[in-house]
Formats: sequence, C-alpha cells, structure tokens
Amino acid sequence: MDGPRFVIEASEASSMATNSGLSLLQLLPTLVKSAQTLARPPISNYHVGAVGLGSDGRIFVGVNLEFPGLPLHHSVHAEQFLVTNLVVHGSPRLLALAVSAAPCGHCRQFLQELRHASDLQIFITSDEQGQHKPSNFKPLSSFLSNPFGPFDLLDNQTPLILEPHDNGLSISNPKNSNCSNLCNGNRESCTQNGFQLGELEVEALRAANNSHAPYSGCPSGVALMDCKGKIYRGSYMESAAYNPSLGPVQAAVVAYVAEGGGGGYDRIVGGVLVERQGATVMQEHTARLFLKLISPKCEFLVVHCVSDSNG
Ligand SMILES: [Zn+2]
Repeated sequence: MDGPRFVIEASEASSMATNSGLSLLQLLPTLVKSAQTLARPPISNYHVGAVGLGSDGRIFVGVNLEFPGLPLHHSVHAEQFLVTNLVVHGSPRLLALAVSAAPCGHCRQFLQELRHASDLQIFITSDEQGQHKPSNFKPLSSFLSNPFGPFDLLDNQTPLILEPHDNGLSISNPKNSNCSNLCNGNRESCTQNGFQLGELEVEALRAANNSHAPYSGCPSGVALMDCKGKIYRGSYMESAAYNPSLGPVQAAVVAYVAEGGGGGYDRIVGGVLVERQGATVMQEHTARLFLKLISPKCEFLVVHCVSDSNG
C-alpha cells in the first residue's frame, strides 16, 4: 500500500545524500520538516518530527502521537516513535537523529536506554537557520549530563533496547487463554473477515519475547491486525526511570502508523496481548482501555504465557 514513508532504505538514503551534496548525517535535518507533517497530535497540534540514521545506513522517521479521551501519559513522543521504528525494522543501532525541537526530559531519559547512549548525536533544527553542518550535532551526554540509566540497575551484559532479546516465553496451552473478551469467547467467529487468531497470538508472543523489561521482569507484546489482515507487532520497552517506558500497545500502534498506509486507528480490528499470568507489571487493563478508545470495534484477546525457565 502506498502511504507516508517512515523508512528510507540505505541505497536510497545514500543517493539522496549524494544528489544533494550532503553527507548522510547532514541529510537528516533536511528531512525533518516533511517528517513533522506525519505527526498525529490532535490535542496539542504541536507537530514533532525526528529523523534518525541507523548503523545499517537506513533512515528512520519518528513523530508524536496523541490520543484524545486518554490521559496524556499515553502519548508517544517522536524520539520514542523513532526508536520503536528501529526496533520494528530490526536496525541494530541509532547513530544520530535530527529533531524539530529540543528533546524533552522524558525523551532524553528514554534515549538513555540505548547502548552507547552518551555518544548518540542529536541535531535540533529549530536552533538553526539552514545550517546543516555535522558540527551542529551534539551528543546526548551534553543534553543529559550526570544521567541515571540502565547500568545503575543492571550489569552491562544485559541486553538493551535494539539488542537481541529472548525472554523465553511460550504459550503452554492456548485453550486456557482468557478468551472472554474476544468474540464472547468464541474463537470460531474470530476467523471471519480474515481475522486469524492463531497468527496474531504467534506474533504477539514474538513481540513479548523481544520485549525489553529487565527492571520488572514482566515482558509483554502486542500484535494488532488491520481490516486488510496486515499484522503489526509491538514490544513493551522499559526505561530505568520507569515512567518513560513505552507500553506494548503503543509500540504496536507505532508500527501501524509507520506501516499501515496512513489510515485511521479505526482500521485496527483485532489485537492480542501476550504477558505472564499474574505478572507484577500488567498491561492488560491499560491495553484494553487504550484500544477501546482508539478503535471501539477492535476485538481484544489476552493470552497468558509461561516462562520456559519456570517450566
Ligand atoms: Zn519527548
């Protein structure tokens, strides 16, 4: 499907830079204005665009998302969207980003969750007048000095966001899933209109296994399906400072905005959340509320999984 583009492949990024006589780094600020037009901020009407360079040479876009009817903390900031976009597309490292306004404290903290965070190069386009020199990039450490971060709580072998995770979760007996909130417990009806529940469960489990939840030990993942049957995965990502953490349903909505061709949220018709039964940090209630608000007809299933290591 054609629609707004949130990823530019490495070869195209490289020829765009060459054609403009710029380096890849210099190219980033020039793409921020068009990124801003993709933002969805119906509460503030303040459009934020962030454009990042992955270590694989691809360029990724992030925008802010706001959700009327929900508390403000459900919002997704452009820098969080950007990082999630790299996760969705399996890019190993974010080298640099250009953003339309100074990153807020929440985002500085969220970015601290990346390996080599202090070296991440940041360019603020609102500070400049057409000057896109690499020297105008500054490291995250200059925006967040004396940071509190992952290594205050974890050893440095623990995988961080954008690094491979395997949380060892499995669905022991899908028939024990809490199906009461989807199709009144009748799975058969869920297979109408191309709603293949099994596939969504598998994708949500994949997302949960890739979740970054080292602080709570409560990984989770969401898979959403749109009315065309396309699936979008989102992994829960925690911050050492807790509150900047990004929920799995927001992460999946980021994937939907990035890959869904620009449609409204009401095109999301089904969702599955995978998390541990009785987890200390549970997404179920918030995810249900969130989905109900953004897409009232979306059917939602929670699947409780077990950890392989616990049998
Ligand atoms: Zn922010």
